[in-house]
Amino acid sequence: MSLVIKDLKVSVDGEMILNGINLEVKKGEVHALMGPNGSGKSTLANTLMGNPKYKVEGGQILLDGKDITNLEVDKRARLGLFMSFQYPCEISGITIANFLRAAYNSCHEEMSVIDFRKFLEEKMALLKMDKKFADRYVNEGFSGGEKKRAEILQMAVLSPKMAILDETDSGLDIDALKIVAAGINSLLGPDMGVVLITHYQRLLNYIKPDHVHILVNGKIVKSGDASLAEELEAQGYDMVKIPIIGG
Ligand code: ADP
Ligand code: MG
Repeated sequence: MSLVIKDLKVSVDGEMILNGINLEVKKGEVHALMGPNGSGKSTLANTLMGNPKYKVEGGQILLDGKDITNLEVDKRARLGLFMSFQYPCEISGITIANFLRAAYNSCHEEMSVIDFRKFLEEKMALLKMDKKFADRYVNEGFSGGEKKRAEILQMAVLSPKMAILDETDSGLDIDALKIVAAGINSLLGPDMGVVLITHYQRLLNYIKPDHVHILVNGKIVKSGDASLAEELEAQGYDMVKIPIIGG
């Protein structure tokens, strides 16, 4: 699946946050999107997924050439788009197993409870999650790292064609980071595109991006290959403080 973003402009609560984003993610490609806090990374992720709080003021979002700019979030999910949250919410009273089975069944051919359980436990093993997690309420009382693992578990279960991962590395210690990165790597393939949003370079030591983009003030100010992330790590965001378009 390919994702094309054309001159996307987005406001939140009447304030312009994204000021013309252009990006193309082809199937099988991993794009890292980096940027300082408040640059609009999560705004882009939420807009791509169709969160109604984010108002598209201009531009287009295309999935395999189909305009999804105004499509409802559930329809985007059915097309194979997935987003993991920077701040996953807790859902009391709903177990992970029930939540994920409902999500799975609404995007794929229905699986029985028993078959799904087996399928889920395989995916949990991949992420080194204790089976007991399946019966806990979604994210309730989870540590930051466990919440992030639960997000990637959701991705493993849904097997999306285009995944937007918002700061999946934040709040993880080095061991958890390696497990999550290995989990993501095991899901990558020639058919899935990924937008990997991260503030720091360290996740990119484990997941090699094909392209790196730096977002500042709602615009991509620099794009390059994996070496751009290393450059950024060495120099900090000062290197892009004055937006030079295409520079
Ligand atoms: P990043 O993920 O790069 O840190 P965000 O997209 O979260 O940046 O935020 C960009 C700007 O948009 C910030 O100034 C933030 O306060 C504002 N913003 C983002 N989401 C919301 C929201 N739901 N409500 C109000 N303001 C928001
Ligand atoms: Mg963010």
